[in-house]
Amino acid sequence: MPGPLVIAVDLGGTSLRAALATPDGQLGRITKIRTDARGGPDKVVAQIAGLVARVRAEAGDTPVQGIGLSSPGPLDPFTGTVFTLPTFQGWQDVPLRALVAERTGLPVTLENDAASAAIGEWRFGAGKGVDSLVYVTVSTGLGGGVIVDGRLLHGRMGMAGHIGHMTLDPDGPRCGCGNPGCWEALASGTGLARIARERLAEGAASSLQDIAGRPVSAEDVVAAARAGDPLGVALIADEARWLGIGIVSLLHLFSPERVILGGGVSNALDLMSDIIAREIQARAMAPFRSVPFMAASLGGNAGLAGAAALAFGAAGTQLA
Ligand SMILES: [Zn+2]
Repeated sequence: MPGPLVIAVDLGGTSLRAALATPDGQLGRITKIRTDARGGPDKVVAQIAGLVARVRAEAGDTPVQGIGLSSPGPLDPFTGTVFTLPTFQGWQDVPLRALVAERTGLPVTLENDAASAAIGEWRFGAGKGVDSLVYVTVSTGLGGGVIVDGRLLHGRMGMAGHIGHMTLDPDGPRCGCGNPGCWEALASGTGLARIARERLAEGAASSLQDIAGRPVSAEDVVAAARAGDPLGVALIADEARWLGIGIVSLLHLFSPERVILGGGVSNALDLMSDIIAREIQARAMAPFRSVPFMAASLGGNAGLAGAAALAFGAAGTQLA
């Protein structure tokens, strides 16, 4: 690949991925291993260093300017400290940026995974060319990142944009954060699957009742809705309604030029867009109603692309 290059790394709960990247957002071959989430920080840092060494070898003689690291949070991108990783063992106040820099000898930027994906979509994807956007990722959790006036909104300790924990129903289902009725509890893929299982346990007639031997997933609900199953259609309509209601709050809070939807559940955006649009028309103040919402375009690679953009930024390299 032509230089300059950085190494983008995406630390996830199940997989750890890395690739070379160029200033126009092109990623080289993605190398992927299984994250040792139970092994503690030392093991994971060693995994990252090993992966970086493999990817760096692919650069040949082309200099590598740094590493952009995307990680679950909460974390502080200014100090490079990961506070906790809920699905990992033994992570408490880990200076991840410093540890990776020490092991690799390269400068490292660290950013929250949803914020990294927001930057990736902004610089290289569906948000290219605008100055303000909100990125919403709907998968296991519901998270996001906010770009305002041409920069990522960081806030205190870099923790702005935890949009999934807006309370939308004070008497709603319990969220992973402990509060009732967060947007995440109502509209994440996990929330959708849990609501589906509750309806099925109540005896709702549905093709989903035929799934045996494993819990019903959000993907199952989407497939049922596509096949015209009445419960699947109703659940996706509720999902779309909660997405629309949350998006209206984001419009009012941040006045983005676009709202970009990523994550697995957004693969069903075609089934939900009419209802989301209806909620926006019904609830948003008039000047906000024309703001478009759209699917993300980088899929699962948005975080890697965003991490690369941050590493180039830290190195003073202009993006193409
Ligand atoms: Zn919450």
